[in-house]
Amino acid sequence: MIERRLITIHGIVQGVGFRPFVMNVARTLELRGSVRNDSEGVLLDFEGDAAAFDRLIDRIARNAPPLSRIESIATASAEVVPHHDLRIIASDTNGERQVQVTPDAATCDACIAELFDAGNRRYRHPFISCTDCGPRLTISHDAPYDRERTTMAHYVICTDCRREYEDPFDRRFHAQTIACSSCGPTLRFEAPSHVSLGDIALCDAVAALRHGATIAVKGIGGYHLACSAVDADAVHRLRARKRREAKPFAVMVKDLAAAHGLCVLTDAEAALLRTSMRPIVLLEKRPETLGISPALDALAPTNRRLGVMLPYSPVHHLLLADFGAPLVMTSGNLSDEPIAIDDADAQERLHGIADAFLVHDRTISTRCDDSVVRVVRRQSAFVRRSRGAAPAALAITPALPAPVLAVGGHLKNTFCLARGGHAFLSHHIGDLENVAAYRALTESIEFYERLLGVEPAVVAHDMHPDYLSTRLAHELNASEHIGVQHHHAHVASCLAEHSQREPVLGIVFDGAGYGSDGAVWGGEFLLADQTSYERLAHLEYVPLPGGDAAARQPWRMAVSHLLRAYGGDVGAGPLPFAAEVAAAQIDILTRMLRARVQSPPTSSVGRLFDAVASLAGIRHVAQYEAQAAMELEAMADPTEHATYPFDVNATSDGWTIDVRPLIRGIMHDVARKRTPAHIAAAFHNAVRDFTVDVAERVRRRTHVRRAALTGGVFQNALLSDLIAGALEQRGFDVLLHRQVPCNDGGIALGQALVAARTCHAATRTAVCA
Ligand code: ZN
Ligand code: ZN
Ligand code: FE
Repeated sequence: MIERRLITIHGIVQGVGFRPFVMNVARTLELRGSVRNDSEGVLLDFEGDAAAFDRLIDRIARNAPPLSRIESIATASAEVVPHHDLRIIASDTNGERQVQVTPDAATCDACIAELFDAGNRRYRHPFISCTDCGPRLTISHDAPYDRERTTMAHYVICTDCRREYEDPFDRRFHAQTIACSSCGPTLRFEAPSHVSLGDIALCDAVAALRHGATIAVKGIGGYHLACSAVDADAVHRLRARKRREAKPFAVMVKDLAAAHGLCVLTDAEAALLRTSMRPIVLLEKRPETLGISPALDALAPTNRRLGVMLPYSPVHHLLLADFGAPLVMTSGNLSDEPIAIDDADAQERLHGIADAFLVHDRTISTRCDDSVVRVVRRQSAFVRRSRGAAPAALAITPALPAPVLAVGGHLKNTFCLARGGHAFLSHHIGDLENVAAYRALTESIEFYERLLGVEPAVVAHDMHPDYLSTRLAHELNASEHIGVQHHHAHVASCLAEHSQREPVLGIVFDGAGYGSDGAVWGGEFLLADQTSYERLAHLEYVPLPGGDAAARQPWRMAVSHLLRAYGGDVGAGPLPFAAEVAAAQIDILTRMLRARVQSPPTSSVGRLFDAVASLAGIRHVAQYEAQAAMELEAMADPTEHATYPFDVNATSDGWTIDVRPLIRGIMHDVARKRTPAHIAAAFHNAVRDFTVDVAERVRRRTHVRRAALTGGVFQNALLSDLIAGALEQRGFDVLLHRQVPCNDGGIALGQALVAARTCHAATRTAVCA
């Protein structure tokens, strides 16, 4: 009995070898008909034996290609119109787009094997790829994903590649990035004295690296600056030229064994390194390598961790194999500017930093920094979600009533487009502190709207009136603009990840966010759901001296906390920062704080970490964002049980946490010459203790026993572990971020969720229901 069925498959099913995979299965099951991509996903129009359809669905569900992600399979019967063959029909570009764009994927094992096989026709071809691997987002102009809508469009496929492209049994059947050395992009080495092409370009680059040069390497989502990671002079030179004195550099190592040589790896970390995202993984340096190599120390000074990644493009594989040692691979920019992608722009901006360029003639359409992850409580947590992760959809349940654009925050900006049951969090845009980043944000929003076919009815933004993102939001056309409180957005993004609809206790420990009372919030206990929040507790306000300057100079927060702890005086003992900060400066700041000049009130836990890092003698002036807090975490002895006292005071609508006893306890330990390791650990324990204390009070009042830990401070794995562990021990259900960063890189998702659930369309739906 011959039947005809129309099967629609939704999810990530385009540009991942799905059609050839289905063709192969269909062929073995003797089905006939057609396969095509369209705006709905992949459509199969097959006829054959009824039993064959069951096996088809089973094999699709079980053996789908590695980069695909099936969300639904819908089947409908249709009238039989005899099909005589099995074929792929070209894409349909009309209609509303529902398809998802795939993130870039690292070179797969099969391609790596061919890359190093002297008998293979793509031996050492720097642009080898197949349907299971290669660039996607970063070469796309538009959707659906087909070669003509990528920056590969103008490379004319040669006869040999064409044969593979059209052979349904080949791994490269309909591989849109198919190329070989006779038809693909060309590698080019450019030094002041000469230019070389192809394999010679690669050899020249390796030779230059051996001589200590810095090379700008054009990669997948932008330029990297590369130099030998085992050459201390080269590393220091790169630091000086990049004007990056202390911020850690990431390194690329050849394989897992090389990673093991530098760092201690858990199984979870090794697995993360190997994912097709190939992120930078923050790993613990091997204690025995510390201090033995000046170069290795220079990579991440004063840091116990090192960012490590494996090669993810064929060029990387060839470079690492030929060079034979780890390479520094840091983003190709000056500090704080967006990473360079355009060739002319890169030449201009990286001219004074790089000695030479290793480039190619394939255009990067979208800037995409490396993703950064670390393991928190034995699972992956994003520090930066970008290449290899964006723009994969995050599932939203229930579906949103209106399409939304959320423009994100000010630092670590990402934006979010959401529609129906999907939210698309963008790649990392960066800190919106310069024109280039602002331009990158506006251009990327336009690109994503086109790519995903989303026309937002609602625009969500932070409540901070002066954020550039807020101003941009008001310039965009939409039927509604909705401001979402910063810390509510943090909690909502965690709720979105966990499809959590009931109210939770949102524990938000953060650097800074605009509060509804105009204060700088950042130590918040919010009873929150996807639509609203109630502020139940927070850290007692202290003055934030000089606003943003306080974050760069932790000693300023130390003075602020001391003045408060000792009733307007800095206390009797010697000041821990006196050796590094002039007495006159301390005096000026003290008077400024007493007079409350330029010192808005703050409840920030991030700034409390800064203050304590300074009081413990660890860091008084930061060279990069969150350096003091990171060093405080690294310094803490996890076996230490000591803690510090604090007070929790009842107010008319909740509680405040008074850390004056904690500050006095630290000064007592400083006077007794306790080690920074002891103070750092006891402080972490004290933060755990006041968090648990307040959480239990909230539970007694509200009966809410689920807590979401969010805000940038929770990038601190030790603190996350301490607080989550203690809360779980007391019967709380703890939600942590897994799919988006807990820092401001994740708030756009929360903004989108809150705005979509509170906009006119949502309230209308609620009334109708
Ligand atoms: Zn491959
Ligand atoms: Zn070719
Ligand atoms: Fe924040």
